[in-house]
Amino acid sequence: MAQIIDGKQISSQIRDELKEKVEQYRQEGIRFSLAVIQVGADPASTVYVRNKRNACAYIGIESSAYELPEETTEEELLNLIHTLNDDPNVNGILVQLPVPPQIREHVVVQAIAKEKDVDGFHMANVGALSMGQPGFVSCTPAGIIQLLKRSGISIEGKECVVIGRSNIVGKPMAMLLLRENGTVTVCHSRTKNLRDVTKRADILVAAVGRPKMIDDSYVKEGAVVIDVGIHRMENGKLCGDVDYEKVAPVASAITPVPGGVGPMTVTMLMNNCVEAGLMASKEKRP
Ligand code: NAD
Repeated sequence: MAQIIDGKQISSQIRDELKEKVEQYRQEGIRFSLAVIQVGADPASTVYVRNKRNACAYIGIESSAYELPEETTEEELLNLIHTLNDDPNVNGILVQLPVPPQIREHVVVQAIAKEKDVDGFHMANVGALSMGQPGFVSCTPAGIIQLLKRSGISIEGKECVVIGRSNIVGKPMAMLLLRENGTVTVCHSRTKNLRDVTKRADILVAAVGRPKMIDDSYVKEGAVVIDVGIHRMENGKLCGDVDYEKVAPVASAITPVPGGVGPMTVTMLMNNCVEAGLMASKEKRP
């Protein structure tokens, strides 16, 4: 039976490390802060925002929330972002996505100052990742690298297959695995003979957005399987993109849903906030 990669435990370990770091820096007069903007009252977004603010409170990062009405215009949102960009007391800015249809998501994301873009979605940060330069990395794939490393799974020289090519998961995941010297293949909805490709994987990352699509017929015996998907089933329980019951017996290690990749996303956001605070404090020094 596969090793279960415990995202809850690894996440709480990293949060405790960050809490200690923040406390040490606080004694040197360095403070950390995140501004979270939510437009509209989508219930899922409200839960995500609450989770992020709770994590900030635990670690010692100050957080401020901006709850804007559903009918907010793009200009109004951009004005707020510009104000926060110019505010030296704000290190990190996050706009909870999705935004209502009258607001263009890509315009909003690019308006956030790259040094405050703790989600790692700004083109400058995406470019930095692909060029191997320092910058903020999208939180979910960054969390997956931590899950692998902290579970003692090496990436170097491994066949890594990512299913999904979204800007926030699939593509940055591929870049990060490449940075760790994996041999990386990216699959997507137009990939032919998907199983032939996924069965080559030593490390298989499923970010497809389709409940339980990846069963044992996609997985090589002994592969490490990372499940990014998160879906609510009719019975109210959560499941991933991977059919856990079928895949766990053939995998050497696997992330469960819930309790795998999910908890790592907010934790890596916190990590980015701490990095942003440290960068800002260095800039302020003479
Ligand atoms: P997305 O819909 O933007 O991208 C899905 C990708 O899967 C696309 O690139 C598409 O080409 C590919 N795809 C779709 N059907 C396919 C098929 N039949 N065969 C091969 N490829 C196929 O989704 P996303 O934002 O990347 O998220 C993926 C999943 O991860 C979703 O379930 C989402 O809810 C979840 N997610 C979880 C977290 C977390 O913190 N755990 C964070 C982000 C996303």
